[in-house]
Amino acid sequence: MALVDRILLGPGPSNPYPEATAALSAPLLGHLDPEFLRVLDETCARLRRVWGTENARTLPLSGTGSIGMEAAFANFVRPGDVVVVGVNGLFGERMVDVAGRYGADVVRVDHDWGQPVDVERVLAAHPEPSLVAAVHAETSTGVRSDIKELSLAVHRRDQRALVLADCVTSLAGIDVQVDAWDVDIAYSGTQKCLGVAPGLAPFTVSERAWDRRVQRPPTWYLDLNLIGAYVDGSSGGRTYHHTAPTAMIASLHAALGRILEEGLDTVWERHRAVGARLHEGLADLGLTLFAAEGHRLPELTTVRVPEGVDSAKTRQILLTEYGVEIGPGVGAFASSVWRIGLMGHNARLDRVELILGALHQILSRS
Ligand SMILES: *Cc1c(COP(=O)(O)O)cnc(C)c1O
Repeated sequence: MALVDRILLGPGPSNPYPEATAALSAPLLGHLDPEFLRVLDETCARLRRVWGTENARTLPLSGTGSIGMEAAFANFVRPGDVVVVGVNGLFGERMVDVAGRYGADVVRVDHDWGQPVDVERVLAAHPEPSLVAAVHAETSTGVRSDIKELSLAVHRRDQRALVLADCVTSLAGIDVQVDAWDVDIAYSGTQKCLGVAPGLAPFTVSERAWDRRVQRPPTWYLDLNLIGAYVDGSSGGRTYHHTAPTAMIASLHAALGRILEEGLDTVWERHRAVGARLHEGLADLGLTLFAAEGHRLPELTTVRVPEGVDSAKTRQILLTEYGVEIGPGVGAFASSVWRIGLMGHNARLDRVELILGALHQILSRS
């Protein structure tokens, strides 16, 4: 395969932090090597800091972000449980699908794409749900929903209801506070703002949720009882479950170290500033943002493709002539919206000016 060097400003993987890339080429350790176990423990400790939690059960699951979603429903939903899902994009839709496959009685609360999840409507959807789920940063539309408000409102009404938050595109990009927001279950993915390659799903569980877990979920691989015994030795000493993806964990460990060294506040501010500059620059080009004002993500911007411009052709020119990837829209917006990511290592002013300059040149040609 030819070695191609791209700048990944799409909704998928971002370019990893250099620290994460360097860790992948370090000598490989065995999955039971004491040095690897030390790195694993430290990775879990670093994840707690980035999640804003003291949850003992905080660990990277082996798989992409979606495996976090799958593990959440597999371990905390029993057939017939009422699960309310706020749906405002593709990943909310996916939650509905996954919850249904584990037998949940799913109550979906649909929103127009581009809008945030409406807390009052989600609360009104069912008086006594066993779980309420929503996506914090909807990557399909570039919208931030207020998980803090949702979670606190759910628990004010009912201490037993569990709150599940998809934080795949929010963690290490915008403020996430699992404990202060009283979120019970949350998952993320390594390839977005965490600045690692795709392949791991950071996951965290509150004590309230852990007490309510399914004792024998219908999946062996994602049974948190079995995984926990390996990762944190919580059932008295580590026992082998599956071979941990050691290189990926070393890479995540390095990226988390870099993020914590820079400082979470500084990292969030870096994302905020570049997002604001991109939004301003796109408006200067005469383009219209898609996501509702006041709920726009700095790390993932959705912008309408101007009238008369071929969306796919423009993306193709960006890729082949500039080496820059941006994403298409999703579903009904596939050819009418572009998605531009400024995540992790790419949350930098030089990336913003590159994409703005390239779009300016391409659009003034056509
Ligand atoms: C990317 C993403 C996922 C899925 O992650 P994969 O790594 O593609 O499995 C889930 N939720 C959100 C909000 C995402 O952006």
